Amino acid sequence: MKPSPLTYHRPRSIDEACEILARVAHEGKVLAGGQSLIPLLSMRLAAPAHLVDIGSIPRLDSVSASSELGVTFDALTTHTALEADLSAARVQPLLGRALRLVAHPTIRNRGTTVGSIVHADPSAEMPAVLALLSGTLTVRSVRGVREIRADELFAGPLESTSNPTRSPRV
Ligand SMILES: Cc1cc2nc3c(=O)[nH]c(=O)nc-3n(C[C@H](O)[C@H](O)[C@H](O)COP(=O)(O)OP(=O)(O)OC[C@H]3O[C@@H](n4cnc5c(N)ncnc54)[C@H](O)[C@@H]3O)c2cc1C
Repeated sequence: MKPSPLTYHRPRSIDEACEILARVAHEGKVLAGGQSLIPLLSMRLAAPAHLVDIGSIPRLDSVSASSELGVTFDALTTHTALEADLSAARVQPLLGRALRLVAHPTIRNRGTTVGSIVHADPSAEMPAVLALLSGTLTVRSVRGVREIRADELFAGPLESTSNPTRSPRV
């Protein structure tokens, strides 16, 4: 099957992505690694009028880790990159142990950990890890930046409180 007709956007900066998402409001969806969203579009279980592909935004794939601040990573950090990060493994060994259970290497090479968290699949590993570690999601929109704690993030199966007009970072 093919997705419903939609307008494809390819912003080059976070500001541009936020502006598009604000303009198209509830008719827009962020596309990150596409490992969950593309099948949903193809089966027409989701039919956004606007797809905002953040994959070309530079410098949105970093990982940083310290024993004081814990592990933080960006919206385009893939499962593979996070699993391979030695400082993240040292600061939070559970991350690597859980990431190795996510799908298989091909999926992990494309799928982002933030995408997995926002997707809020109750059977997925990374939302459970975020909840277990009391992590937070930092979301940005044209209105500014806000932090969402894990216990406020998951509203139900496949439903998170991160507004689609915002672009998260964990
Ligand atoms: C065959 C297969 C097997 C899998 N097995 C597992 C498994 O065993 N365990 C597991 O945990 N996962 C599994 N997954 C899911 C995988 O981990 C995906 O990578 C992940 O769910 C979504 O990441 P993504 O970057 O591909 O997000 P996408 O598919 O691009 O997006 C998913 C959702 O999150 C939203 N989103 C993504 N990024 C952002 C952002 N920055 N801002 C706002 N919204 C955002 C999108 O709008 C969409 O609603 C599997 C997937 C496949 C195809």
